[in-house]
Amino acid sequence: MSKKVTVIGAGISGLATAYWLQKDGFDVTVVESRSEPGGAMQTSSEDGFLVDFGPNSGLETTPLISQLAEEVAIKNEMIYANESANKRYILKNNSLLPLPTSPPAFFTSKLFSTKAKLRLMKEPFVGKSADGYYQSIADFVRRRLGNEFLDYAIDPFVSGVFAGNPEKLSVKSAFPKLYRLEELYGGLIKGLIKGAKERKRRSEDSKQSAKMFSFINGMQSFPEAVAQKLKNVIYNFNVDQISRTGEKYLIKSTDGSSIESDVVLSTMPAYNLSGKLDNFDEDLAGHLNDVYYPPVMVLYVGFKKDQIGQPLDGFGYLIPSKEEKIFLGAIWSSTIFPNRAADDSASFTIFIGGARMANVFDKNEDMLIDDVISEFKKIMNATGNPIFQKKQMWNKAIPQYNLGYIEHENYFDKFEKENPGFFIGGNFRGGISVGDCVKNSELIFNKIKSFAVVHSFSREGANTQNKDS
Ligand SMILES: Cc1cc2nc3c(=O)[nH]c(=O)nc-3n(C[C@H](O)[C@H](O)[C@H](O)COP(=O)(O)OP(=O)(O)OC[C@H]3O[C@@H](n4cnc5c(N)ncnc54)[C@H](O)[C@@H]3O)c2cc1C
Repeated sequence: MSKKVTVIGAGISGLATAYWLQKDGFDVTVVESRSEPGGAMQTSSEDGFLVDFGPNSGLETTPLISQLAEEVAIKNEMIYANESANKRYILKNNSLLPLPTSPPAFFTSKLFSTKAKLRLMKEPFVGKSADGYYQSIADFVRRRLGNEFLDYAIDPFVSGVFAGNPEKLSVKSAFPKLYRLEELYGGLIKGLIKGAKERKRRSEDSKQSAKMFSFINGMQSFPEAVAQKLKNVIYNFNVDQISRTGEKYLIKSTDGSSIESDVVLSTMPAYNLSGKLDNFDEDLAGHLNDVYYPPVMVLYVGFKKDQIGQPLDGFGYLIPSKEEKIFLGAIWSSTIFPNRAADDSASFTIFIGGARMANVFDKNEDMLIDDVISEFKKIMNATGNPIFQKKQMWNKAIPQYNLGYIEHENYFDKFEKENPGFFIGGNFRGGISVGDCVKNSELIFNKIKSFAVVHSFSREGANTQNKDS
């Protein structure tokens, strides 16, 4: 008899794993509390503006993304960022300065002082550090590259990726590849050179060189296309309780329905999973509850192009905390990808809050939005009011891989060993980017496949070939 796999969560992590499981002959059902697929990937289209409230793009750090898009018949809608998106700005003293992307540009850049530039030259001679799991990205960068590099490159970068606080994020858990450069090669500059050769061999792209992608109708069309290929997806199934009964798992919904399953993969956010565990050891809930997700507001604004005085020739800008503004930065959405705004208009996605500015939400929301728009207009040299405006509040946006996160990661590994058939996935394990979620989905698919072999699952019409072949 074929055994059942239930995947909780129809975000990209759950859907990608479910797709590969189904392709491999597993009897798989996805349950999702919302009425549509996508999770954090949410797109809406209104008045000629296409709004991505979650990720605006992904980096193609693995060939799996294209392969999956091809297989779910959405590859023809996959688009790559305009060349100009390579240019990124950093706000310094109220001016937008381009982030240098080559050594000559770095040495002529106004973003860093001569002292900071000379300091960078010392980097290859800085020794290795103590355990990176308990070392913040801020400490790591301060030590290797100096304070200014931390303030005007890494601090805004950390905001852009995690909406995080660099003093709290663990360098090894949150930026494993960066830490690995030091661990393996003794430094960042040496490592960047040698690492590029290794990646070429593995046909993987680094985050610096990976192409930025989206879909013509927005990021949500990707999970939608994956979901359409799945035979069993149950929406509006709000998991209320998961319990273990012998070798099986019982997944109960708030509406009283339930599914018994041999394998369960949860891709719910950590804070959601923590409250659903019935007869498991209480430590798991403790670890899950400890994962901090800061609040982030995404404010999308549209203007007529002739209202904007700043040339729209880049990805957008990030704001270092030193600059003391009330938002984190803005993506110039319609410059990066087509179909985001009408030809005579421009659209921008502004990020507010995050781990280091969670207290901005103490302010009245309308006043906060007015203040953000007025600050944004000053920076963009814009006139008049936005012709379009939409917002989404993510009360718990992105999991922070903070200092000591390894203890959670080790616990999740231990829990899976002690509860065979229960797998924990989602963006709080193994990376938060869309690319990392897809890579991890494949890892989990392989773990479930190995589990099935050990437990003699029969798979109907099982495709015994490796999915990559
Ligand atoms: C504002 C924002 C901007 C981002 N920008 C980028 C970016 O530019 N580039 C990038 O690469 N990444 C970005 N990310 C990160 C990336 O989008 C996410 O990490 C990724 O999409 C998470 O996918 P997931 O499937 O792991 O989790 P989710 O997408 O969160 O999916 C989890 C699913 O579980 C469901 N669920 C929760 N509770 C239950 C329950 N009780 N029962 C049933 N189902 C439940 C949820 O409804 C959801 O559909 C961003 C994230 C946010 C929030």
